[in-house]
Amino acid sequence: MPGFQFSALQDEVLPQGPRVVVTGATGLLGRAVCREFQNHGWTVSGTGLRRARPRFLRCDLTDEDAVRFLFQPDVLVHCAAERRPDVMERNADAAVSLNVHASTACGALLIYISTDYVFDGRNPPYGEDDCPNPLNLYGRSKLEGEREALRHCPGAVILRVPVLFGEVESVTESAVTSLWQQVQEATEERRALDHCLQRFPTDARNVAAVCRKLAERARQDPSIRGIFHFSGKEQMTKYEMAVAMAQAFNLPSNHLVPLTELPAGSAPRPVNSQLNCSRLEQLNLSVEPRAFSVAISECLWPFTADKRWRQTVFH
Ligand code: NAP
Repeated sequence: MPGFQFSALQDEVLPQGPRVVVTGATGLLGRAVCREFQNHGWTVSGTGLRRARPRFLRCDLTDEDAVRFLFQPDVLVHCAAERRPDVMERNADAAVSLNVHASTACGALLIYISTDYVFDGRNPPYGEDDCPNPLNLYGRSKLEGEREALRHCPGAVILRVPVLFGEVESVTESAVTSLWQQVQEATEERRALDHCLQRFPTDARNVAAVCRKLAERARQDPSIRGIFHFSGKEQMTKYEMAVAMAQAFNLPSNHLVPLTELPAGSAPRPVNSQLNCSRLEQLNLSVEPRAFSVAISECLWPFTADKRWRQTVFH
């Protein structure tokens, strides 16, 4: 079959509970989504690309034939994407194809993960019905992906989320945990960090729980469809996130300097694309995020020099 490579473990899965396929299962959010559904009795299959084997099905979602053959589950959570705006601008064709067209291979219920970058950030907070106006190619491709998903799968759920952090394989995997590198460089040299763009760092584990709740409710109630927003509640610049990390680990932060002008040359980003999440909350489909300092400490402890730190803080 074009674009596919099966792994040994796929054949071992015996169908039990309702069936979910997670695209991008090897990524930051996809891993959390797989774990969340598995822990709640779902039969989970995942697809990945470079990191797929040995656990998941390797499937290039930019290959239209491969997408057409994607098996039909009860629920498809589409996490696969090129999510780095600067990389998108450099590899436009393949990335747009992934972010826009791959979602049209839907199962009974498609959950398409989207972004706050569909908004221009000039008039927050944004409700689900507010008019999108993406500033960069990443935001435009995700908005187009939303529209394709809704056109091909009218019952689809679109879940928009802001910048994510979580259990990373390396700190560079998330724009939030990447800041750990600068935090640790407590030298004479100063580290300038963005203090212009307002962000709402969001725990991928919370997003995964919202996906699962949406899937379970939507299977019972067909009115659960269309666009939903979910976000962490703490507003922070990257500079403030880094200072919070330093404080959580009792590290110095006086080498971190707030940068009040954006560097030239990077893809334009919204200044404040805060999401209004009341639709999910009113339907009792939201989750209460933990404090950023607590959640981020848990994600970073494997990257601390002294891992015994965890035992003293969490137990
Ligand atoms: P990620 O960690 O970068 O993972 C991307 C996933 O997509 C990986 O599993 C990757 O597989 C897969 N993938 C990449 N190219 C592919 C292709 N051609 N065919 C098939 N699979 C491919 O992304 P993430 O952070 O988990 O993001 C998940 C979703 O959340 C995305 O829709 C993103 O737009 C959205 N989102 C993310 C953030 C954020 O801050 N991370 C913020 C807002 C919205 P391999 O690694 O195996 O190659």
